[in-house]
Amino acid sequence: MKSEREILIDFMQILGQYNPSSKQYECFFKLKNGQECDGDIEAIHEKYLQFYPWYYSQEWQHCGYEKQFLRDEDDEDEDIDFILIPLNDIDLTNLYYWNEQSCCFISLEWNVTQNCFIHNETVPGSVPLPTYLQEDIPEDDKRLKEVGYWQSDSNRPYYPHPKHLLKQRWRKSERNQIIDYLKAGHICGARHDSRSSFCNFDCFSRDRFEKLNQIEERKLTYEMLKMGTCDLLSDGEWIWPIRLAHYIEKHDIYLPDEFILTMQKNSWSVPQNIDFQHYWQLGANESFWINWAIKYTQTNQT
Ligand SMILES: [Zn+2]
Repeated sequence: MKSEREILIDFMQILGQYNPSSKQYECFFKLKNGQECDGDIEAIHEKYLQFYPWYYSQEWQHCGYEKQFLRDEDDEDEDIDFILIPLNDIDLTNLYYWNEQSCCFISLEWNVTQNCFIHNETVPGSVPLPTYLQEDIPEDDKRLKEVGYWQSDSNRPYYPHPKHLLKQRWRKSERNQIIDYLKAGHICGARHDSRSSFCNFDCFSRDRFEKLNQIEERKLTYEMLKMGTCDLLSDGEWIWPIRLAHYIEKHDIYLPDEFILTMQKNSWSVPQNIDFQHYWQLGANESFWINWAIKYTQTNQT
């Protein structure tokens, strides 16, 4: 039987296959206390894992690990922070890696009898939610509700992949109004890692471009530019990425009725003069969208 350390070394090797040129390996895993670890692994030492969190949030301080510093070779004035996580603290049932091809997180489940990992694509509901996403949303919650964010936007394995929310001919007669509404949202900011014109279904892959003639190529480039890059659009109640319009238009993605109800209530026109002050103060509510996607996927499976 393999030790915890050997299992983690196997995990790191799997990550390495996806980042062959890098010394650090991108990953997502959890600690036994539920803390999410979103960042890069550099090495597995005798008792510790050397980890670079992408966000050094307050939760890390509560864990009590000491922050370590390394001088950045490329920039002498910069220190890089990392922490040493005791191997015993890592929850080996919650290890994930990002699969670039399928644009989704894969979970790794250790199989004791075969002494190897079993790789499973994550689906809404298959990844345990952190506590703050399990709580009921208070009725007077003023935060903007997220809608239409995927694993590829969020770097969190419990977000859905659009392929889990397909519904053909959904609201066919209102479809154009929905698309126009999504495109007309007010820009209320941009995230740091805003990706330009990216589709989870590979609409704009290089392979696809190579097979096209010049006219088709121009058409597809136009489609791609039209998809847009802003990932924070809002109507004062909801917040969504501009790319969401593409998913409704091209891929028959289904959205929560509650969101469509707001559009109807607004007579299909995004209200003017919205004050986004509370968004910047309170942040957005992720819980509704994630739990809605889980409910929808589960009802569709049965
Ligand atoms: Zn697409």
